[in-house]
Amino acid sequence: MICLGIEGTAHTVGVGIVQDSAPVILANVSCMYAPVSGGIHPRDAANHHAGVVVDVLRQALDEAQMDVEDIDVIGFSMGPGLGPCLRTVATAARSLALYTRKPLVGVNHCIAHLEIGRKMTEARDPVLLYVSGGNTQVIAFLNGRYRVFGETLDIGIGNCLDKFGRELGMPFPAGPAIERKARNGRCYLPLPYPVKGMDVAFSGILTAALAKREEASLPDLCFSLQETCFAMLTEVTERAVAHTGKSEVLLGGGVAANRRLQDMVASMAAARGAASFCPPRSLLVDNGAMIAWTALLMHRHGLTTPVEESHIRQNFRTDEVAVTWRS
Ligand code: AMP
Ligand code: MG
Repeated sequence: MICLGIEGTAHTVGVGIVQDSAPVILANVSCMYAPVSGGIHPRDAANHHAGVVVDVLRQALDEAQMDVEDIDVIGFSMGPGLGPCLRTVATAARSLALYTRKPLVGVNHCIAHLEIGRKMTEARDPVLLYVSGGNTQVIAFLNGRYRVFGETLDIGIGNCLDKFGRELGMPFPAGPAIERKARNGRCYLPLPYPVKGMDVAFSGILTAALAKREEASLPDLCFSLQETCFAMLTEVTERAVAHTGKSEVLLGGGVAANRRLQDMVASMAAARGAASFCPPRSLLVDNGAMIAWTALLMHRHGLTTPVEESHIRQNFRTDEVAVTWRS
């Protein structure tokens, strides 16, 4: 069984091709839209996706040394995400499914981050800390669904970092530059610590950090921002682990490429006697392989999406999906 998946919830168009035997990933090609100035404009990002999706698809087929006829199932990111981007990629996936007469599977993007981690690391039943540009959620499997144990109440952690970097003249995406600067930070500047029950919020920290830019050095600011945000994320993840009684923590999303966050989560897990796992960077960031793999799992359990029911879902919640492939 060979499945092709198309990702396109936000800044990245990705096409992955996977199979259910080793090696699982046959191709994983991405093309990211980076705004010239300001944040991601949904329409510009969608235009970018429309312009490159066919090329990315061709590159993925080349990498897998396949023709489109060799594909058995077509997956696509149905949501959550930016409407124009989702629509563009859904249109590509529908066209491909109709052209090849192969089944279509609409995939929840957040669940795909968890499933690719379960496949490509040794994690089997983890608590996922999913930290990306637009999303921040702590997710674990319970009673037939992936439940959200905690999440951001406003912006995603990556968005917080990117906005902070943009105000200070760093190019998009700013996360890696902030991580490098933070390594030279020496002095912790107190910032708000908004953990509300199991949820977190980042826009107040962003405002407070920017307000300190005249009085503090950039490395100290980056260091303090990371320490504060990552401690909050680690705290709620730890409480989800304690509550669910699970013994594994998995990282997902582009921000999980950050070594400081990886270290904080790993030491929290170790202190609890739990294992922590982090997939390689190409599978942390938005990518087509995770969509393809989740579509393969879903299809194997009889879940397909008829073209006429394949409308996109901007606010697609993680816990709306009945995870029959794990029950
Ligand atoms: P995603 O939305 O999952 O593709 O991830 C993109 C986000 O990850 C952007 O907000 C980036 O700034 C962030 N990011 C990438 N690398 C790092 C890093 N090393 N540290 C912190 N954030 C990062
Ligand atoms: Mg993502």
